[in-house]
Amino acid sequence: MRLSSQVYNRPIADAALIACPQCDLLQRLPELAPGASARCPRCDKELWRRREDSLNRTLALTLGAALLYVVANSVPMLGLTIVGRAASTTVIGGAEHLWQDGQQLVAMLVLLTAVIAPALQIGFMLAIVLGAHRERPPRWVGTLLRHHPATRTWSMIEVMMLGVLVALVKIADYATVIPGMALFVLWVLVFLLAGMQASFDSREVWERIQWAQGGARRDSARDRMAAGTS
Ligand SMILES: [Zn+2]
Repeated sequence: MRLSSQVYNRPIADAALIACPQCDLLQRLPELAPGASARCPRCDKELWRRREDSLNRTLALTLGAALLYVVANSVPMLGLTIVGRAASTTVIGGAEHLWQDGQQLVAMLVLLTAVIAPALQIGFMLAIVLGAHRERPPRWVGTLLRHHPATRTWSMIEVMMLGVLVALVKIADYATVIPGMALFVLWVLVFLLAGMQASFDSREVWERIQWAQGGARRDSARDRMAAGTS
């Protein structure tokens, strides 16, 4: 009787245990040197790669991405000249035009996937890396780390860029298209964001968080549980 209430919903004491995401084999991760990776013995899937100097590299790439993001949203993305009339627009301006044209749903999707989600993705990553740099990472680093994958899923600048390219080719027959500064900045941003994700090692940050606070919290929870059942 005592077992069932105590065993369920308790975190596994061994944080090195990992289930292979491909074949579900449960195994223990070894200590890895920077740059080395661990593979599943059954299906050869890479389970974890310890990135070299992950926190500093990610911080540098994230700062670069933040700078480019600000530039990309403050300078024109596209200009058009039709029979002597010229007009140019930014990313947010484009969404605004869509809204006014009665395409509210598309306007909201553009705003979410090309403006809001990338801002959250960069902002969360910056906060996580800066928080993890501290000697005792604060608790909110874990909360942000848990929600960061969602911002990554919705951040789709590259999809918007492909759409813009297709549109450019189609309207080139009817109007003179002037590619704006933001178009080039956004292409660089796409690669910076990919680099930022590739250099980031979430396991390393989790380890730092657990080291700073996880042990103490787990002990106190265990004490509470023991006091409640005795
Ligand atoms: Zn496997």
